[in-house]
Amino acid sequence: MNASNQNTKGRPLCFGNWKCNGSIAALRQWAADFDPGGAQAAVCVPYPYLSLAVQLLDKKAAVGCQDISLHAGGAHTGEVSAAMAADCGAQFTLVGHSECRQAGQDDKAVAGRIAQAVGEALIPVLCVGETLEQREAGKLEEVLADQLGAAAAELRQSRSPIVAYEPVWAIGTGRAASADDAQKAVGLVKGILKRTFVDYIPVLYGGSVKAANAAEYMAVDEIDGLLVGGASLKADEFSAICAAS
Ligand code: PEP
Repeated sequence: MNASNQNTKGRPLCFGNWKCNGSIAALRQWAADFDPGGAQAAVCVPYPYLSLAVQLLDKKAAVGCQDISLHAGGAHTGEVSAAMAADCGAQFTLVGHSECRQAGQDDKAVAGRIAQAVGEALIPVLCVGETLEQREAGKLEEVLADQLGAAAAELRQSRSPIVAYEPVWAIGTGRAASADDAQKAVGLVKGILKRTFVDYIPVLYGGSVKAANAAEYMAVDEIDGLLVGGASLKADEFSAICAAS
């Protein structure tokens, strides 16, 4: 993965998120079948598959994890530190995915995870996005500003941060945001980032992306790439998404 974060529009970023799915056999088959085409592909696999994914995917895709511990190590049963993920070959980690936020991670815990990632030279992919209730209450910009603002100091420490705009109501629901809504929200994200950061930060769209709608998002100037959950589990579908990007 090119960590320099220059304008990536020429070579789109296609990130997959397997969530709590997969097996060694499925990973082997996926690695054999997946073709990134011209996209810069990356996949977030469950922790036990990190090393094997790095080995199998080689130059086809960068490998990352879906979350990391807030702690560098010690008495935190069940957790995986950024150093351990990096030791397994992870190049990046998602932070603040809405499924983790819904399970209790607040903005402070998300910011702490970014700091852990940065300390181990992992690229943080910060996920932000509003619930349907917040959108309907007209709070989209406020929510994005709060989530980005809370992570700003830590993001600034990263050489190559990435942000993913993922409306919570579009994740895993099949109810994708329209390209117009995605454009407006990613535009807001970029405006907020511009006020906070000097350097260019790529922004992905995520939420029920599939091969059939990927090109619509990638036609939007503001969108630098995609974060794909369910549809990334099938190598042929994710390859088609990369090709459509
Ligand atoms: C995600 O897990 O980040 C995601 C966007 O999921 P899905 O594509 O399944 O909506």
